[in-house]
Amino acid sequence: MKFSTLVSFFERLQATASQIEMTEILAELFMEASEDDIDTVCYFVLGDIAPGYAEVDLGLGEKTVISALALASGRDEEEVSRWVRDEGTLSALAADLEIPWKEEFRDYIAVDNGLRVEDVHDGLMQIATASGSGSMKKKKTILAAMLAAADEKERSYITRLATGTMRLGAGDRTLLDGMSHAVSGSKELRPVLEHAYYTCSDIGHVAKILKQSGLSGVKRIRVSLNRPIRPMLTQRVGKLEEIMEKISSARIAAEEKYDGERIEAHKDGDEVRLFSRRLSDITDQFPDVVEGVRSGIAAQTAILDGEVVAYDAGEGIFQPFQQLMHRRRKYHVEKYVAEVPVRYVVFDLLYLEGDSRMSAPYPERRALLKEILTPSEFLTLSGMKVCTSVEEIHDAFSSNLKRGLEGVICKSCASDSVYEPGNRSWQWIKWKKEYETELTDTLDLVIIGAAAGKGKRSGGFGSVLCAAYNEEEDVFQTVCGVGTGFSDEELEALPEKLEATRREKKPSRCQVRKRSEPDFWFSPEYVIEVLGSEITQSPAHTCNWNEEEKRGFALRFPRFIRWRPEKSPEQATSAEEIAQMYGQQGSG
Ligand code: AMP
Repeated sequence: MKFSTLVSFFERLQATASQIEMTEILAELFMEASEDDIDTVCYFVLGDIAPGYAEVDLGLGEKTVISALALASGRDEEEVSRWVRDEGTLSALAADLEIPWKEEFRDYIAVDNGLRVEDVHDGLMQIATASGSGSMKKKKTILAAMLAAADEKERSYITRLATGTMRLGAGDRTLLDGMSHAVSGSKELRPVLEHAYYTCSDIGHVAKILKQSGLSGVKRIRVSLNRPIRPMLTQRVGKLEEIMEKISSARIAAEEKYDGERIEAHKDGDEVRLFSRRLSDITDQFPDVVEGVRSGIAAQTAILDGEVVAYDAGEGIFQPFQQLMHRRRKYHVEKYVAEVPVRYVVFDLLYLEGDSRMSAPYPERRALLKEILTPSEFLTLSGMKVCTSVEEIHDAFSSNLKRGLEGVICKSCASDSVYEPGNRSWQWIKWKKEYETELTDTLDLVIIGAAAGKGKRSGGFGSVLCAAYNEEEDVFQTVCGVGTGFSDEELEALPEKLEATRREKKPSRCQVRKRSEPDFWFSPEYVIEVLGSEITQSPAHTCNWNEEEKRGFALRFPRFIRWRPEKSPEQATSAEEIAQMYGQQGSG
């Protein structure tokens, strides 16, 4: 496929704010792209070069790109920097600059009939893999060569891809809807495509298989080692009694709920890789967990699901989440391994000795896990009590709270208790301490805007506009403005923290009522945990917007609790969960 053809699709996507139109454009794009190109096309639409877990990092900062533009256009860097300030963005400047072709560029890019999608992908991969001495120069030269081979519009999109600022407004679910539309004319295939995507975490692979072998091929997509599986999610209820009703299983496992970070561990012989909830490879952050899994799991190959928690071995108690945050670092890891010891608490087994175990019932997976796991300083099996009554669940919950845990996660033990990747299923229900002390649970919300501060807060932000994620429509819908709960230092640091996500106008996947429009817009990236008193109906917020009644849902008396860096915007509380919480309040 010619890159210019793909760019014309990008332009159409960019020009619409309608999800339906976006889906139709993506369906057309799916049909037009070849089997060879479709995976790259999918990554590019999402602003990536490869699936997220592959951790392809171009290593291009703004300075390097400015320097590449200077090299390509024969200007000096000072002048280019000044133009960037005037033009606003690097991509706009790249489109405007005259960039002449030089013969020496032929070493990096062969283009006689214009750029193809494959050429752009190859160029970006060469940039990502350049390493060692002279690598910066090489990265700059490759980028300059690509820009010189491109026309005006192509230059803008190459620069956006190179700087991670694509932002076409299409999320991965819209892309899946586009594929479904292309094949069936409707969204009906989304669940099948989603299941395959959540199993392999590579949307390009799913698209390629769909093109090559149709839906039956997609249904055959299996788990592979070193490709993260999307973690299964938990539901919530308003009253403890409802757990028994919702989990239709005579026996319910009340597992201890730990306040740490979700980690999926892949063991392949002596090699162990760890993936975060956002599917990033975080192996290097936790050498202690790697060692725990390597020596404590008696299997050649296995995939485990669990929670890593800060642990005070002296006192024998788990520590709060904030403590674990000290381990989020790339450098001086060893020092923090000693200062903030952790324990990997494993609660599920998804793959063993070459076979997926996801379709085995929970008790069977748990029994296998118990068989292969030898507890050690860094590794343990989650605590669990099988219950048959609500009283027993409450007992387990109270005893967990006494030991400093967050609550319980109740899990179905029925014969159909399979592991559902990426799904928020009624098989797993959480019950936390906040449920007994506050009117509502905390919500994880995405910051999409901010109001300018007044009085004491003038010059900074007064509050941030927060949104929930609507999974069905793949958009962000507002729930509340949050101004309390931040410390003075946190408030002061907010503008700088959010600066990189700042936008001139409303980002395309955000739905905001006119009356709630903020002074500043941010693309949905940062997730915060917010405590509130109650969910109410409100004409000011778009969460589950009801056009007839002209109202959505809002959170009353919201209060900032903490940042949730381990959650992606799409992992924020969903609009559907908020609707459920509203219903539960009514009956509670
Ligand atoms: P929350 O983050 O409050 O929505 O609660 C769900 C999260 O609790 C899961 O994504 C896990 O990271 C975590 N968790 C802690 N303990 C368990 C457990 N025993 N089983 C499943 N998830 C757990």
